[in-house]
Amino acid sequence: MSEALGRATKRQLFGAAMTRLQLVQGQIADMAVLIDNAALQVYRAAWTRDTIGGRTSREAAMAKLVATEGAQAVIDAAVQVMGGAGVVSGNTVERLYREIRALRIYEGASEVQKVIIAGQVIAAYEAQA
Ligand SMILES: Cc1cc2nc3c(=O)[nH]c(=O)nc-3n(C[C@H](O)[C@H](O)[C@H](O)COP(=O)(O)OP(=O)(O)OC[C@H]3O[C@@H](n4cnc5c(N)ncnc54)[C@H](O)[C@@H]3O)c2cc1C
Repeated sequence: MSEALGRATKRQLFGAAMTRLQLVQGQIADMAVLIDNAALQVYRAAWTRDTIGGRTSREAAMAKLVATEGAQAVIDAAVQVMGGAGVVSGNTVERLYREIRALRIYEGASEVQKVIIAGQVIAAYEAQA
């Protein structure tokens, strides 16, 4: 995100820095929210494990899902903000764009995390009912 921000701050479009364009600001806001969402989910899973203990399948699955899907979206937005430079071989965002894809597959694919989350939510509901 910082590489995209650096370029958007310097790059002039319509006589002003790209960061003055509201659609670019929307992308920056979306990226910031996704990054904070991921951090908060990871901290919650770790805090729950450390302080409450026991199984934390629901929290860990949510953290993995949100962090990896969010990272994919953030990197995709960073490539978009950087324009053609974002797909030039050797640029950081171009490398990250290729590298992030596998994280949504290994250590439990996103679909598998959703199955775990739904199972936990349904089990909690049925235990209360
Ligand atoms: C870069 C990389 C590094 C890896 N490193 C290791 C490693 O060090 N050690 C190791 O043991 N393995 C490693 N793996 C393997 C990784 O764990 C598997 O790729 C992963 O578990 C998915 O299994 P699969 O590839 O057989 O896909 P499959 O299990 O065949 O899944 C294919 C698709 O079906 C979906 N799917 C599966 N189950 C469901 C379901 N119930 N409902 C809906 N959709 C579903 C998946 O989400 C996926 O989209 C690595 C993989 C990659 C890409």
